Amino acid sequence: MSIRPLTLVEYIGQEEVKKQVRVLIDSAKKRVESLDHIILAGPPGLGKTTLATVIATEMGSQIKVTSAPVIEKKGDIVGLLTSLKDGDILFIDEIHRLSPAFEEILYPAMEDFKLDIIIGGGVGKKRYSKAITLDLSRFTLIGATTRIGMLSDPLLSRFGVILTLDYYTEGELSEIVKRVAQIMAVEIEEEACMEIARHSRGTPRIANKILKRVYDFSLSHNRERIDTDTVRQALRLFSIKDYGIDSLMLKYLRILVESFHGGPIGLTTLCSALNEDRKTIEEVIEPFLLRMGFIKKTKVGRVAQGKAFEFLSNFRDT
Ligand code: ADP
Repeated sequence: MSIRPLTLVEYIGQEEVKKQVRVLIDSAKKRVESLDHIILAGPPGLGKTTLATVIATEMGSQIKVTSAPVIEKKGDIVGLLTSLKDGDILFIDEIHRLSPAFEEILYPAMEDFKLDIIIGGGVGKKRYSKAITLDLSRFTLIGATTRIGMLSDPLLSRFGVILTLDYYTEGELSEIVKRVAQIMAVEIEEEACMEIARHSRGTPRIANKILKRVYDFSLSHNRERIDTDTVRQALRLFSIKDYGIDSLMLKYLRILVESFHGGPIGLTTLCSALNEDRKTIEEVIEPFLLRMGFIKKTKVGRVAQGKAFEFLSNFRDT
């Protein structure tokens, strides 16, 4: 059994998104038509690819999975589109990285299920090229993005639905850990699942990764049952810090708290101090820090909260 959930029931959390998906699927099935094109937005590791495969399973559709950076030539995208059958789902990860030329191929494909291509042939003076329009099957495009702000307006407007995934609560992450442990036939205590959840930065991918390291640790130490103590020792061994904060977030907090005494500081100053663009700061770094209550956005700039000061002082000690 795969650790990736296959159905909506197995997909834990994201209740609002699941409600919307359920309605879209029910309606498409009753209309006996393909689903409208969908954008899945949200930080990495929150379950966008998983949700796309869940949607395909629930629809009884085939899914082709690709990622914008691997689409290098026009032929790649034309080949993908023409290989789809009615009801199939095409999943393009990191769709914000699709080049404008390829986006333009998608517009008529998404809107009218048509593909405008130029074919050429002949030799020497008899060379010719002509534009032809191909009919495509009625497919569904699911695009995933960590940076919705980077999507061009014309592309975004061709998606019928935008579903935004949010960070998971510790309770939900603990459920995810419990489910995966069961699949892996690993014995783990309830409180140990919560301890893993607390270090997973709201992200199932991190939770699953920590569980694997904890399992390695328990095997190597011949522990049959994983308890909180085992989790803590494994976290220490593998240097997994509190809240699973990553280096970019840590750098952000240090600049705000240590270099600017907690702020307020403006976005432009943060950009140059971190050497990052506005979008990375606003869409990748800040959502988690806001959610954790580490920072607040005010009219005069970003301000560190007590929790951020506390976190950094404990962090230095560990
Ligand atoms: P993304 O595409 O957003 O980067 P993935 O879909 O690859 O994230 O998910 C990362 C991992 O987390 C997968 O291995 C998947 O099993 C797990 N996962 C994600 N969302 C859920 C969920 N809602 N319930 C259970 N497991 C999940």
